[in-house]
Amino acid sequence: MRWDNQRDDRMAATLPGLEYSTTPTPGFAEVTFHEIRAKSVLSKVPGGSSMPFGWTVNPYRGCSHACTYCFARASHTYLDLDSGRDFDTQVIVKVNAPEVLAAQLRSPKWGREHVAMGTNTDPYQRAEGRYQLMPGIIGALADARTPFSILTKGTVLSRDIPLLAEVGKKLPIGIGVSIALLDRELQSTLEPGTASPQARLELVRRVREAGLPCGVFVAPVLPWLTDSVAQLDDLLASVRESGATGVTVLPLHLRTGAREWFFAWLERERPDLVAGYQRVYARGSYADRRYRRWLGERVAPLLRRHGLAPREGRSAVGTPADEEGLWPEGALPPALGAAPVRQEQLTLL
Ligand code: SF4
Repeated sequence: MRWDNQRDDRMAATLPGLEYSTTPTPGFAEVTFHEIRAKSVLSKVPGGSSMPFGWTVNPYRGCSHACTYCFARASHTYLDLDSGRDFDTQVIVKVNAPEVLAAQLRSPKWGREHVAMGTNTDPYQRAEGRYQLMPGIIGALADARTPFSILTKGTVLSRDIPLLAEVGKKLPIGIGVSIALLDRELQSTLEPGTASPQARLELVRRVREAGLPCGVFVAPVLPWLTDSVAQLDDLLASVRESGATGVTVLPLHLRTGAREWFFAWLERERPDLVAGYQRVYARGSYADRRYRRWLGERVAPLLRRHGLAPREGRSAVGTPADEEGLWPEGALPPALGAAPVRQEQLTLL
C-alpha cells in the first residue's frame, strides 16, 4: 500500500496489537487501523477553491461512520484501497499528528489562518476514542493562537468539551454537528457507524451548556427519504430545542465514489426510488437545480417558524449559515437558488 514506507514501528512496540495491522483490532469489529507516521498534517486548500477556509487537518483517512453517501470515499482510492467497504473498514491513523502539527505551526511563516477539521473524514470517529489525537491537535492549535473549527457526527467529542471550552475563551473556535434525519431505522442503515441522531442532539446540548457555539448541518437531505415537510419540521424543531446557534441545510451531493456506493445501497433498500434518483442526479454530482430550488422553497418557511432563519442576505440552504465558517464533512456546498419553483419543475419530483 502507498503508506508502507511510513509504517510506524514505534507504535508497534508501545501498543501491541495496534501496529500496522492487517487484521481487525479487538473492540473494533471489522475495522483495521493502519498506523502511519505522517510527515505533514496541515494541508493547504488549493487556490481557487470555494471553501471558506484555507487550511485543513485530518488525522484519519477512511471513516468507520460508514455513511453510504460520504463523498470523501473517492479519496481512499489514492491509497490503493476501494471507496466502498475499504473506506469504512481500513482506517489510516496518523499517530504522530499532534507533534507534527505543533512543529508545523511553530514555523515563523505560519500566518494563523483558520484551520478546518472534519472537512474530509470525521476527526471524532470511533478510532479517536482509542488514539486520542484530538486533544493534542487542539492543544497545538491553541498554543499557536490559531482559530479552528470542527465538524463531526461523533459523540467522542464530548470527551474534549472541557478542553474546547478553555480554548474557546482565548480563541475563536467553531463546532458543528451533522444530523441528517431523526428516523433511527433509516439512520442505522444509511449511516451505520454513527451515533444515533438523539445522541448527536444531546452532544449539541452539551456543547452549548459549556458556553460554546454549535451549528447543526442538516445534511444531506435525501430526495423522497428525508425531505417531507413533516420530517424537516420535526428535525428543525429538535435542532432548535437543542440550543444550536445556527443551521445549514444541504441536499445530497453524489460525487464519483459515493455515487456508486449510494446507488448500491438504494438498490438494496429502496429500489422503487432508483429511477427518481437517476433523474435528480442525471447531470452529475449535484442535485438538479430544480430540486435544489424546490428544497429551498420548502425549507425557508420552516426555518422561519423555528426561529432558525439566517441573517438577512444569507441563505441557510446550501451555504454555511453559521458564524464560524464550518463546512460539512463529505459534502460540497451547492449554491441553491431562491427563485420560486414553477409547477412544471415539480414533475422531476
Ligand atoms: S460523511 Fe463524515 S461521518 Fe460520514 S463517513 Fe464521511 S467523513 Fe465519516
